[in-house]
Amino acid sequence: IYDIAFKPDGTQLLVATGNKIIVYDPTDGTLVQTLRAHKDTVYCLGYSKDGKRFASGSADKCVIIWTDKLTGILKYTHNESIQCLAYNPVSPQLASCAVNDFGLWAPEQKSVNKHKISNRITCCSWTSDGQYLALGLFSGVISIRSKLGEEKIKIERPGGSLSPVWSLKWNHNIQFAPFKHFKRSIDAPNVVIRGVNQFYRTRGFRGQAIIGLDSSPKKLDDTNDVLTVCDWGQTLSFYHLNGKQIGKDAKLDYDPCAVQYYDQGKYLVVGGSNKKTCLYSKEGYFLGVISDSSSGWVWCIACKPDSNVVVVGHQDGTITCHLVTFQTVHGLYRDCYAFRQNLTNVVVQRLNSDIKHIDLDEDDGSKLTIKCNDLVKRISVYKDKLAVQLSDRIVIYQHETKDGESKYVPVNKILKKFECNLLVVCSENIILCQESKLSCFSMDGEKQRDWSLEANIRYIKVIGGPSGREGMLLGLKNGQVLQIFVDNPFPIEMLKIKSSIRCLDLSMNRTKLAIICDNSTCHVYDIESKELLFEEVNANSVAWNTQNEDMLCYSGKGHLGIKAAGFPSQQRRMNGFVVGYCGSRIFCLHVHAMRAVDVPQSAPMYQYLDRQMYEEAYQIACLGVTESDWHNLSQKALEDLNFNVAKKAFTRIRNLRYLELVQSIEDRQKRGENKTDLFMGDIHAYRSEFAEAAKYYKKAGHSQKAVDMYTDLRMFELAKEYVETTDPSERKQLMAKQANWAKNTNEPREAAKMYLAAGENLKALDIIGENGWTDMLMDVARKLDKADRESLTKCAYYLKQLQQYAYCAEVFNKMGDRKAHILLQVEIKNWDEAFALVEKHPEFKDDVYVPYAQWLAENDKFEEAQKAFHKAGRISDALHVLEQLTENAVNECRFNDAGYYYWMLSMQCLDIAAERTPKKVEMLKKFKKYQKLAEIYYVYHSIQRYTDEPFTSHLPEALFNIARFLLHCISGSTAPRGVSKVPFSATLYALAKQSRSLGAYKLSRFAYDKLHTLKLPMRFQDLIDLGSVTIRSKPYHDSEDLQPMCYRCSTTNPLLNAQGSSCINCHQPFVYSFSSFEVLPLVEFTLEDGISDEEACRLIDSSSKPPRSDEWKDNDRDAQSLQMDVVEEDPFTARLLTFEGGGDYVPVVVNRVVLRSLSRGDVFIRRWAAPLRFQYFKNLMPEVAVAMCDSCFQMFHADDYELMVLQKQCCPFCRKVSDAHED
Ligand SMILES: [Zn+2]
Ligand SMILES: [Zn+2]
Repeated sequence: IYDIAFKPDGTQLLVATGNKIIVYDPTDGTLVQTLRAHKDTVYCLGYSKDGKRFASGSADKCVIIWTDKLTGILKYTHNESIQCLAYNPVSPQLASCAVNDFGLWAPEQKSVNKHKISNRITCCSWTSDGQYLALGLFSGVISIRSKLGEEKIKIERPGGSLSPVWSLKWNHNIQFAPFKHFKRSIDAPNVVIRGVNQFYRTRGFRGQAIIGLDSSPKKLDDTNDVLTVCDWGQTLSFYHLNGKQIGKDAKLDYDPCAVQYYDQGKYLVVGGSNKKTCLYSKEGYFLGVISDSSSGWVWCIACKPDSNVVVVGHQDGTITCHLVTFQTVHGLYRDCYAFRQNLTNVVVQRLNSDIKHIDLDEDDGSKLTIKCNDLVKRISVYKDKLAVQLSDRIVIYQHETKDGESKYVPVNKILKKFECNLLVVCSENIILCQESKLSCFSMDGEKQRDWSLEANIRYIKVIGGPSGREGMLLGLKNGQVLQIFVDNPFPIEMLKIKSSIRCLDLSMNRTKLAIICDNSTCHVYDIESKELLFEEVNANSVAWNTQNEDMLCYSGKGHLGIKAAGFPSQQRRMNGFVVGYCGSRIFCLHVHAMRAVDVPQSAPMYQYLDRQMYEEAYQIACLGVTESDWHNLSQKALEDLNFNVAKKAFTRIRNLRYLELVQSIEDRQKRGENKTDLFMGDIHAYRSEFAEAAKYYKKAGHSQKAVDMYTDLRMFELAKEYVETTDPSERKQLMAKQANWAKNTNEPREAAKMYLAAGENLKALDIIGENGWTDMLMDVARKLDKADRESLTKCAYYLKQLQQYAYCAEVFNKMGDRKAHILLQVEIKNWDEAFALVEKHPEFKDDVYVPYAQWLAENDKFEEAQKAFHKAGRISDALHVLEQLTENAVNECRFNDAGYYYWMLSMQCLDIAAERTPKKVEMLKKFKKYQKLAEIYYVYHSIQRYTDEPFTSHLPEALFNIARFLLHCISGSTAPRGVSKVPFSATLYALAKQSRSLGAYKLSRFAYDKLHTLKLPMRFQDLIDLGSVTIRSKPYHDSEDLQPMCYRCSTTNPLLNAQGSSCINCHQPFVYSFSSFEVLPLVEFTLEDGISDEEACRLIDSSSKPPRSDEWKDNDRDAQSLQMDVVEEDPFTARLLTFEGGGDYVPVVVNRVVLRSLSRGDVFIRRWAAPLRFQYFKNLMPEVAVAMCDSCFQMFHADDYELMVLQKQCCPFCRKVSDAHED
């Protein structure tokens, strides 16, 4: 086998043998393929770092490049046979070396760059960064080349051509994380690979020692490239990249043929003429032999990437595969644990109880590492001493702490190569054990004593003692357990069992001995009596607790057993061997790792507890149990009146409250009190187990204590049970306390219940109501007697507040309070229910209907409401309600609303007049009255606003007109009754002011004079005084412009008219615009007898006369003359003067001819419903546009009306929503 190579991912193993390349599956040695492309022996193989290509070189001078799918893709040649080749680790560059030249080739190159070299190249290796290539020459020279092939360093070695360099390798100090755990999973079966000629089942290497705890992070200085060189001068040397040698040559006693780094460069594996494969530290210290076969020289070695498999190719064609594992070498003294690392280091660590999980791979600062530079074979620790046996000496270290730094200082060396099975260090001695012989040396290596025993020694344990006189416990193969003192030549037999001893341990106080025999049984003996105390099977190792005499643990068969005294052991799953048991912590060695396992001692503690062995349970608890375990222990002890343990336990968990209890009980005991039941009662009371406590108190004859306890707890009902029935006063007292507590408590529900129980319903209801407990409120209300009106009223009050109206109504019903019930329905606007109630009890109808109408009015449903009343045949009700509403509005000075309501009222009266003949006259009278009032209040609203608010939207003329209109309404002969509510003074005041400013001095003077006769609010008085003084400087007449003209007779009327709103001459009533209150050019006319309204309307509509406006348009150049013509021609005009002076009002009466002559656009008809007749008006000045509301029939200047409708969306007087506007 000339060469072997792994694919970087470890999935292929290439083997060069003969002129073939054989590919194996390394997992089971299956042959994958045989590649036959070379015509001569294949010497070398090399896989590229990325695993996509590999190259082979052969004696046939060819280099062949293959893909990982095993197809050859390229071939080039050298002049001589190819000796070695290597892929650059960072690029696809391939170095191929022949006898007298080497080539550098990369896929992008067309040709191979070849460099001549004077001597045969035997080996080559790239640095990890791919910058340099080291060539080992047959002449013993090492040439370090750049990646371009230039020679950078040439190392001439002293051996010269007598020491051909045969193998070299750069330490590829791999930067990626070390593989920490693979050594722990090497339970896999050894791998078998079929070689070319034969196969070997390899057992792998199990050197004597060891541990695989070797993955400390790389130090920075380690990353420097180190070149390992083997030559046939039988040396192993190391060089830096700069050519300087590191250390000295290590002598080999064979010709090395192959060198490889193993396990991330921590070790070297070298094979050669000695037919062995040896393991060295990376510094070159020999560590052990991996393979030793009869298959001839070792020619090549390959380490499977990322594993601990080493494959070796031998001269005779055999390939062996080895699994490398290291034994554990370690020593433990209490929690001081020393172990071997990387085979040559010793690490000492405190398995400190503060660290929960010890991960020996992590450097947490609790470790001390000692570099021994040699294979560590044995380690022993005792107190501050550490003994390490190396290949040729024993070094004794002493632990020292200097300047806060802890370290081990070598104090003695015994330069002697010992063969021994066991090494033990004591304070002043080193004891070596070889089979049945035990030798004691001084620290200087002077032999002091030998013991020859009857059988091989299987186990030694130093059990302590004075310095220099320590005792040791020995377990022999023949079953003997001996005790040997370092200074005593005579062993003492302690026991002898039938089978050989594997492990043993002595209890803390040295009264008991645990022995594990070869039958995996743990025997525990009393040392004094030699009596076998108990046995446990399935035990491979055992350890006594170092803090508790009765506890031990043992391991075996995947379980850990913890045993306290003679109780059954507690089992739990655990792999590994127990090696120590400290408190609640068990040290366990599993595979190659030491673990500290925390095992709560709860179970054994409870075993003692169950037997009332409190002291023992406490001892166990001290080793480490949970808080709740402590709690249980303390309570159990307390319960059993074991105050000593209870006190200790309470102290431990810092429960001061219970400590006080224990203290007080103990004090009472001292004073001679001895009623256990009483103590028990106190204990249970402390635990809030009141029922128990009360029972104990009663048993002790102290029922009063139970009563007091329950009273303190406010558990009055329970307290009552313990009150002696013979004493009624006590019972009362209890009730008093209860009530008192209830008052101050923050538990209102309880308090309420108590008040109820005490018959204090009102107090209870207040609490219940304020907390909003509807259900409770209702329960109470239902239970109450209906005579208890006060309580029921309270219930109802709260229910209403809580909006539980149905319940509230129920309460009112129970009380028989119909009015309250109805008012409730009204308040919650449950009108249907309210109406239904009023139906039965009509005496409350005002209580319902008025608010109902009010509500409807507020919600703009006034008409609906009225309609509803009418529908229900409640016309008089509707009227009544409306009257009430109107009165309210007046009383509240909402004159605008009052006007509106009066208008509504008038219309209702008209409706009634139409339907109910008996009331017709009365209703028509009312109609007129209400119409008038509607107008008065409507108008007064403006005056009120003017006097109440500093600004008014009305023009001075309008206000003047309004005031005058109002004055005429309320002072004239037609003034209705009931307007006394309108402040006359305000109207006069407005009139006085406006009159003066407009030049109506006479009127103003009249108003001021009138005002002086009235009692006025103070705020007006000064203004009026001032006004009446200044008015005197004005002329005693009114401006003629202001005086209204009668459109019928053309008489100019005075501003103040004794007749009210009609012409002083013809008595024709003025028609006012209901916005500006100017007189409109309208004259009312009536129909001749015999003409019905229908006919009149028809006649007007069928008027043959074309509209006047057209004529205006045609003849506007001479309007004046045209009008004159019209006046003369118009038959209506002719009838205007049909009045008699000084007499009563005689309306203009028209016949059919006149009607026919009228223009439809000039006529306004108030189409009153029956029994009223229509009212007809003719516009005498058609150029003045007039509009009439078709609902209330009020007249307006068309422009004003449109504006108001636009602003209010309805008629200002009757509030009818304007259809016109909507259009
Ligand atoms: Zn007149
Ligand atoms: Zn109207």
